[in-house]
Amino acid sequence: MATYRIAVLPGDGIGQEVTPQARRILELVGRAAGLGFDFETALVGGSAIDEAGTPLPPATLALCRQAHAILFGAVGGPKWDTLPQEQRPERGLLGIRKELDLFANLRPATCFPMLVDASPLKRSVVEGTDIMVIRELTGGLYFGEPRGREEFADGGARAVNTMAYTSREIERVARAAFDVAMKRKKRLASVDKANVLVVSQLWREVVTRVAKDYPQVQLEHVLVDNCAMALVHKPTQFDTIVTENTFGDILSDEAAILAGSMGMLPSASLGGQGGRVGLYEPVHGTAPDIAGQGVANPIAAILSVSMLLRYSLERGADADHVDAAVLRVLERGHRTRDIHSAGTKLVGTTEMGDLIASEVEKSY
Ligand code: NAD
Repeated sequence: MATYRIAVLPGDGIGQEVTPQARRILELVGRAAGLGFDFETALVGGSAIDEAGTPLPPATLALCRQAHAILFGAVGGPKWDTLPQEQRPERGLLGIRKELDLFANLRPATCFPMLVDASPLKRSVVEGTDIMVIRELTGGLYFGEPRGREEFADGGARAVNTMAYTSREIERVARAAFDVAMKRKKRLASVDKANVLVVSQLWREVVTRVAKDYPQVQLEHVLVDNCAMALVHKPTQFDTIVTENTFGDILSDEAAILAGSMGMLPSASLGGQGGRVGLYEPVHGTAPDIAGQGVANPIAAILSVSMLLRYSLERGADADHVDAAVLRVLERGHRTRDIHSAGTKLVGTTEMGDLIASEVEKSY
């Protein structure tokens, strides 16, 4: 029996409530599909600061390095907001991304049929939306050199950031994106600003070259301004999108609106160690306003488990079981508070986990 090592890092706030629900779904899938999971839990973020004095203890990083995949909750909260930047809980997550070289961030924006009316956009626009945005995560404007600020004697100032990419950085995220597109509808939109930026021209050149290795995938190049418009005008035209760091930061948040609620959005960060380790986490944060009340929506965390099965373990059929179980529970009208509306049944975090677990069990 294949055995996978899973590092479980619940973190803070509702991370500690939703992560156990995600873990139990993975355990269930393991039992049903004959996969062995070896779970080990470790501290990260604010809880690690409290217990070990640092947001990313060496033992946590070592565990992540040895794992096949990392199941992450969320980090942060008002208790640690006054700490200096370098010691804040977020450093725990950024540290793992950096140390494991997680260069591709995958964020799906799926509009669930029964939640269409939770989106601020019209039903006719969002219905049927099912997009995967792949954002390059370790290069570009956020890391490029030179960067900095100079002050002028006349009281003015000048600031510089640099959007820089090597062809190697572009190629590896492009390959990750084509691989994802192959598991979806085999359509890839590469988003850039090649009519203005020389870095985008290199991006386009490299993506076009990589496309030759994926003849089954239909590639189109889209300018970032057109993409921003099309996402709110006709989102169903997209399947898989790949783009550089800054454009991806903005477009993935824009696409998130299509899904209706933060509590529904999973994500994956892939890369490092030959693409071996992936980190899977809900997009949302620690939600201090509802933490400890047992009302958080565990679906984003549970759908992160589905992504873990699909992208780190190549278990697409098992991922489909999890996705279908979530859909069935929603179809039957069960809702946590964030997605609750008149005529639906209000449930808490654990109850939502119970309902999804029972559907997963029944489906095998
Ligand atoms: P947030 O995502 O925690 O919450 C935003 C709003 O969405 C809140 O009203 C919250 O109640 C609601 N919400 C979020 N997830 C939900 C869920 N699963 N179920 C129901 N409602 C949900 O964002 P924020 O308030 O800006 O940040 C709170 C803390 O989380 C901050 O310390 C921030 O730094 C941290 N944060 C961490 C991550 C991460 O670890 N990846 C991401 C974002 C924010």
